Amino acid sequence: MPALQILTSLRPILEFVFPPVCVVCDALLLPREHKVCGACWKSVRPVRPDEDLFVQMHQRLTADGYVSGFFSAFLFEKQGALQSMIHRLKYEGMTSLGVELGKKLGEGLKERNDIDSKAVLIPVPLHRSKVRERGYNQSFHICKGLHAVTGLPIRLHALRRHRYTESQTHLNIEDRKKNVDGAFSIPPSLHSAVRNKPVILVDDVITTGATTNSCAQVLCAAGAEKVFACSVALAE
Ligand SMILES: [Zn+2]
Repeated sequence: MPALQILTSLRPILEFVFPPVCVVCDALLLPREHKVCGACWKSVRPVRPDEDLFVQMHQRLTADGYVSGFFSAFLFEKQGALQSMIHRLKYEGMTSLGVELGKKLGEGLKERNDIDSKAVLIPVPLHRSKVRERGYNQSFHICKGLHAVTGLPIRLHALRRHRYTESQTHLNIEDRKKNVDGAFSIPPSLHSAVRNKPVILVDDVITTGATTNSCAQVLCAAGAEKVFACSVALAE
């Protein structure tokens, strides 16, 4: 019997001995819950489109004319359940959590009717040395969740990050802009992946919008019809 089949047949026994628990709070999960319990999801605050943080980011992102619209599903609160989920997704290899987060993001977009049926999903890329170190791009797994909800195709390799940029957490807005300026590109042979297409650019967390704007500029230059930016979380 193949190993996968053996594991599948053993699953009920394994789950009885090691019942699945919430990755945030360790509570036992109910049969319909995946990775995160209902109480932890409830503690995560959705971003309201009329609140100052959203309005300011919308203005900042659309000011240069490269980003046509913007949506973030949740507020990134320090020490909150969402921070814990994103940490596990980025640094502990929990890629399936990215898919769950992507599904929530997709549901939020659907509710707002912010989905163009002709759009392609493009994750904000990591530099190849970062992909090698981490083993994956977390935003690609968020895209997989978005794909599950919307059916839109993912274009993983169109947009590239060709300059390695250090962590931006210690930089202010102006320095972040300089840090990512010219860091992204699309090879001419891949312009057809975005030409005349609406693009949904997908990130885990948007903080200042500098990365988003830099990516959107490159996508527009390659002929994208428009760029709608979205993220699981919006940081203060
Ligand atoms: Zn929990």
